[in-house]
Amino acid sequence: MQVIHRGDEVRQLVWSMRGRGETVGVVPTMGALHDGHVSLVRKSVEMCDHTIVTIFVNPTQFAANEDLGKYPRTFDADCQAVKDAGAACVFSPSVAEMYPDGCSTFVDPPAVGLPLEGVFRPEHFRGVATIVAKLFNLIPATHAVFGSKDYQQLKVVEAMVSDLNFGIEIIAGEIIRDADGLAMSSRNRYLSADDRKTALSLSKALRVAKEIAAGGELDVAKIEAAMHKILAGVDTLQYATIVDANTLQPMHTLRSPAQALIAVRVGATRLIDNERIL
Ligand code: AMP
Repeated sequence: MQVIHRGDEVRQLVWSMRGRGETVGVVPTMGALHDGHVSLVRKSVEMCDHTIVTIFVNPTQFAANEDLGKYPRTFDADCQAVKDAGAACVFSPSVAEMYPDGCSTFVDPPAVGLPLEGVFRPEHFRGVATIVAKLFNLIPATHAVFGSKDYQQLKVVEAMVSDLNFGIEIIAGEIIRDADGLAMSSRNRYLSADDRKTALSLSKALRVAKEIAAGGELDVAKIEAAMHKILAGVDTLQYATIVDANTLQPMHTLRSPAQALIAVRVGATRLIDNERIL
């Protein structure tokens, strides 16, 4: 497995693969890899002739008050995990490589990025859309794999690829959870034992919402109230809501496709989770 730090080198590698008519999957990550990331790498390895995993903690998607400085970095273990999963290459650029002095062009994210995370992290998707566009330009892959864990991000990337005519197929990977139901996240390592117990209320709220919907309840406000009750122990509830799974617009009477999404703070750690309800 190759480790590449320079954009022109990775572009050359990928063009040589594409020139032979081979498919290339890219899996963008910020490192601190866990089994959720590895499942995306495996998916790409199964689907594509070659897989490139990017590891880059993207400063433009963090607000000034967020955890950029203490974001976990485990590069050597990440490379081993990527190698074990069968990928061809890790692309790990420096901040200066991705954002040289004077770099001032950004991608304005699509409408699907405005609600939910767009309200609580107003600059976030601008940074995400920009770095994903830059990575797609450096890595002219045929496929890109994103996790459903960051459901709104997946929708933002799908809309951007369509709106800006990127010729790349976006593949969604399912959410990988620990045995107790907690969705895996690089940020889970910040949780104390007590925090972790509290954090289980996210997957529980989603499970209960799905059960209530399966029982025939059509009043979204009632299902959301049940979710809020289960989430009463978190430190800050930012949203726990059911929206149209494609547009992420609010829904009053339940209809398919409906997605429940949650964002909370437990201690200092921000956690998100989601699930298809109907
Ligand atoms: P991150 O390193 O947090 O930026 O995530 C990189 C990719 O991994 C994104 O597409 C995430 O949605 C995905 N991902 C993160 N956690 C999980 C998980 N528990 N299951 C599946 N995919 C995940």
